[in-house]
Amino acid sequence: MAKFDYDLITIGAGSGGVRASRLAGAYGARVAIIEELREGGTCVLRGCVPKKLLVYGSHVAEELSDAEGYGWKFNGVNHNWAGMIEAKNRELDRLHQIYVNLLDNAGVERISGRGILTDKHTVKIGRKEITAEKILIAVGGWPYKPDIPGIEHSISSNEALELNEKPKRIVIVGSGYIAVEFAGIFAGFGSEVDIVFRADKVLRGFDIDLRNALMEEMTKKGVRIQTQCLPERIEKNKAGYKVYLSNGKYIEADQVLYATGRVPNTKGLGLESVGINLRENGAIVVNEWNQSNISNIYALGDVTDRINLTPVAIAEAQAFAETVFNNAPKNMDYQDIPCAVFSQPPISSVGLSEEAAREKFDEIDVYVSGFRPMKYTMTENMERGLQKLIVERSSQRVIGAHMIGVDAPEIIQGIAIAIKAKATKLDFDATVGIHPTAAEEFVTMRQARSD
Ligand code: NDP
Repeated sequence: MAKFDYDLITIGAGSGGVRASRLAGAYGARVAIIEELREGGTCVLRGCVPKKLLVYGSHVAEELSDAEGYGWKFNGVNHNWAGMIEAKNRELDRLHQIYVNLLDNAGVERISGRGILTDKHTVKIGRKEITAEKILIAVGGWPYKPDIPGIEHSISSNEALELNEKPKRIVIVGSGYIAVEFAGIFAGFGSEVDIVFRADKVLRGFDIDLRNALMEEMTKKGVRIQTQCLPERIEKNKAGYKVYLSNGKYIEADQVLYATGRVPNTKGLGLESVGINLRENGAIVVNEWNQSNISNIYALGDVTDRINLTPVAIAEAQAFAETVFNNAPKNMDYQDIPCAVFSQPPISSVGLSEEAAREKFDEIDVYVSGFRPMKYTMTENMERGLQKLIVERSSQRVIGAHMIGVDAPEIIQGIAIAIKAKATKLDFDATVGIHPTAAEEFVTMRQARSD
């Protein structure tokens, strides 16, 4: 008789946990997966997917207005917010069901509830206890909000995706991915948007030209930006909320959205009692094999706070399953991971920013091209795009590519392959452009910006 109930218990059925469990099941392991909310996790149910659907929805307003430049006339255009949220929820239900089917088809047992470790092989769910030889923790992260008076009146991205009605006025706190993405969504739908943050620019860590360009474009689209200041307290009144700022001003709004980062979801999981090493922010410390200091307990995805992106969690899960259940040891490669911010216009990057490249290399060449998308030349849309290549001078290797503008994430995905394959600027130059596109700028930039 088997020593344990299962070969693997996974806690958390998000992108990483589901992929790891399915693969382990496919490799013959007896697997159970525990989920306290719904199978699918942050990306599918409370993050990337619903967010992007709302980005699409909100951008239609601009497309309608651009269409007038092409001779279209619309009368009586209006938007049904509740209808959109309902349609979005139907789509999420469909995706949730796909995740359930994937697990069932891989023979993974689904258990609903909160899993708590009681020893290194045992997980308790309510009154039930189950055991496994190996345990995988993939519980993701949860929005973090600083503790200021009235913070209970604010919402996080979770609720922002579920609002029954569109706020007429919204204050967004933070300058990271989530803050700028929601600023674009609500501004697109016609809300008055104020974004407030402690830094001097949005998107810390991104290339400086993209950060500057996004602030300009957001301003053009009517988003009011207040830098280097933060709310000190939030008061509820009859009309909504009054947000008092550290610069002495206040803003009145119907909703206050905090997008001040996310923290690993490790509280109350019993990790301390088992002796698992955690970082100060609660992230599980793992080695390059996704293994914690307790050798049969593994963790991956946002709960480890390495690079918190869905495709990274999925790749970590793949590496974990290959290593532990398929006798084919595999490490995740964290080099040159492309990313995108679905702001309006969107941003996408792969490799080093100009600042990071200057720190790492003695000499670099920087190629920049700013442009007004052709699509907008017949419209009143003043949005501009920008593309940038960072090249290491001695080897001529392209070590960074950055873009803000229409379709930036779709374009950078392809450029990321070239960078991963260590392409040089000569390879880019030797590539024939596709005309007329914005993407062709990446292979036609000939003049480096002077130092
Ligand atoms: P980010 O880490 O991107 O940004 C956090 C923001 O909160 C920053 O502006 C930060 O300021 C600010 N902040 C942090 N702590 C405080 C505080 N105590 N008081 C005031 N401001 C504070 O987090 P997000 O919440 O936007 O997103 C979380 C993660 O989710 C991202 O890092 C990303 O990994 C992932 N994500 C990815 C998306 C994508 O791929 N498109 C979309 C959405 C999320 P400062 O810069 O000054 O530190």
